[in-house]
Amino acid sequence: LGWLWWATMVDAENLKYKDPKQPVGVRVKDLLGRMTLEEKIGQMVQIDRSVANATVMKDYFIGSVLSGGGSVPLPDARAEDWVNMINDFQKGSLSSRLGIPMFYGIDAVHGHNNVYNATVFPHNVGLGATRNPDLVRRIGAATALEVRATGISYTFAPCLAVCRDPRWGRCYESYSEDPKIVKEMTEIIIGLQGEPPANYRKGTPYVGGTKKVIACAKHFVGDGGTTHGINENNTVINRHGLLSIHMPAYLDSIIKGVSSVMASYSSWNGVKMHANRELITDFLKGALKFKGFVISDWEGLDRITSTPHSNYTYSVQASILAGIDMVMIPYKYAEFIDDVKFLVKNNAIPMDRIDDAVRRILTVKFTMGLFESPMGDYSLVNELGSQAHRDLARDAVRQSLVLLKNGKNDSKPLLPLSKKSPKILVAGTHADNLGYQCGGWTIAWQGFSGNNATRGTTILASIKSTVDPSTEVVFREDPDSDFVKSSDFSYAIVVIGEAPYAETGGDSTTLTMLDPGPSTIKNVCDYVECVVIVISGRPIVIEPYISSIDALVAAWLPGTEGQGVTDALYGDHGFSGKLPRTWFKSVDQLPMNVGDPHYDPLFPFGFGLTTGSVKDIVARSTSAGIYGTPSLIASIAVAIALCIL
Ligand code: BGC
Repeated sequence: LGWLWWATMVDAENLKYKDPKQPVGVRVKDLLGRMTLEEKIGQMVQIDRSVANATVMKDYFIGSVLSGGGSVPLPDARAEDWVNMINDFQKGSLSSRLGIPMFYGIDAVHGHNNVYNATVFPHNVGLGATRNPDLVRRIGAATALEVRATGISYTFAPCLAVCRDPRWGRCYESYSEDPKIVKEMTEIIIGLQGEPPANYRKGTPYVGGTKKVIACAKHFVGDGGTTHGINENNTVINRHGLLSIHMPAYLDSIIKGVSSVMASYSSWNGVKMHANRELITDFLKGALKFKGFVISDWEGLDRITSTPHSNYTYSVQASILAGIDMVMIPYKYAEFIDDVKFLVKNNAIPMDRIDDAVRRILTVKFTMGLFESPMGDYSLVNELGSQAHRDLARDAVRQSLVLLKNGKNDSKPLLPLSKKSPKILVAGTHADNLGYQCGGWTIAWQGFSGNNATRGTTILASIKSTVDPSTEVVFREDPDSDFVKSSDFSYAIVVIGEAPYAETGGDSTTLTMLDPGPSTIKNVCDYVECVVIVISGRPIVIEPYISSIDALVAAWLPGTEGQGVTDALYGDHGFSGKLPRTWFKSVDQLPMNVGDPHYDPLFPFGFGLTTGSVKDIVARSTSAGIYGTPSLIASIAVAIALCIL
């Protein structure tokens, strides 16, 4: 291998594409001119980790490897193990004839969520509630560092779906039902890839060095608009609707230099997006001038024809002609390579189309400095799950919480809670379950339940460490009513919600909470003042229980830093989140989005009570008077805050 490195260095003096002083365009042209058809097709292929090794990388000139949702999780791997594995694949790529490095992709969709010990941030629905693009940009930067700490240079994020129906199992991957919020949150791309220089040509992909990663705007386009919210279904909408609801965030991403876009499994008015030349080539690459590469979704080609695998060669042709540049195979790469070779040799795919695809992929590789720094950097391993990132995640959790109710009839607020109470009850399926708190896309594709999912703080653990040592904290997952009646609790915190899911596994027509949530609410809230915290990827059925609940908080899928929830409950931080989605009364109303003619929600889009932190409330009440809206709540909160202190 040492010899190969030496040979590479010698070559660098003669080969333009190896000369970092040359402009990217010149390097791409030089390299493309040296490549055989096989080498070009290889660059268009992304294979799964389980079929990758140094020999396959070298012999098939593979352009990229991934750990996809469908890959076997590596729950025990440390950052160093990831770097070792990926560097091994990279050595294979570098030893190929032209030594073209590969990039490795992963779904780091709420932090580096597939890796044990990483900081897991709130899922996108919670970030939508913060209405804070600056925070989201900082989360992007932290995620990029953690991803690079494992030798990975590409994340399949952000998901820019505008979820129009919460029955869709991917609704939590969507920032909002409102296109404007989704558009604002494309700021995460700047965090992930870095800020392009001022004179940068819009549409040109940008990745600013070895602490940044390639981002991927997905799933192009209309994934959140499918009929009945059925995953991968058909989105029936006219051109104006598609452009005004589902497209604006892509336009912004391109302006921000996003380097890749992933095609959606779904169809638009009956045409599969993976075969939609009009939208991918004419619109995205033509009208919007996107110069990065378009990647297929996992086995996306297999789903073009109605029967998977029934006519794979046709699907390969249709997708490449539509404008897909890199194909997430992820297993049968040899078949794909043979098909493309056959199609090119028979003039069924023009050579120009292949050159265009490879040019786009190489442009990103040169821009990000992959030829100069192809290997994972062990000096970054301590970035994984660092305290600074956990602090940022904790702050994101606080900002994502939406206070939906505070006191029966909002007359006597329950929050903030008192830290000094003789005895309190914590109950519910989700109070002490880190896996539930993180949701899907955490360590495993469908997520895990239980506290061994990864490292973090459950809501129960954080309550115990927040209250005064004199307060007795009693935990019962599902207490019976006699126990509650006879125990003399000061108040109760009930944490309920959904169990983790991903993609089709999360499609639901009922949107109910996990059992025995409803009976826990009844057994507790009928007998003691209670705050109910909902851990879910979307609004769920809550209307039948609302009258017995004193205070209600939507906490979405907050991730590893459960302390953020407790900070707000006890007034160390105020509630400020606003609903990123309409909260329905009954599933019969769905789909129902803000602006619909018969809009009759339980809580409207944008709703969220505000409270200052205990400290803020006291400071403001002693100087400029009462702060916060609605003012009645603020004034009562002031009174309570003063009592607590
Ligand atoms: C999902 C994508 C994801 C890909 C790789 C697919 O099933 O639709 O969002 O990026 O898998 O894991």
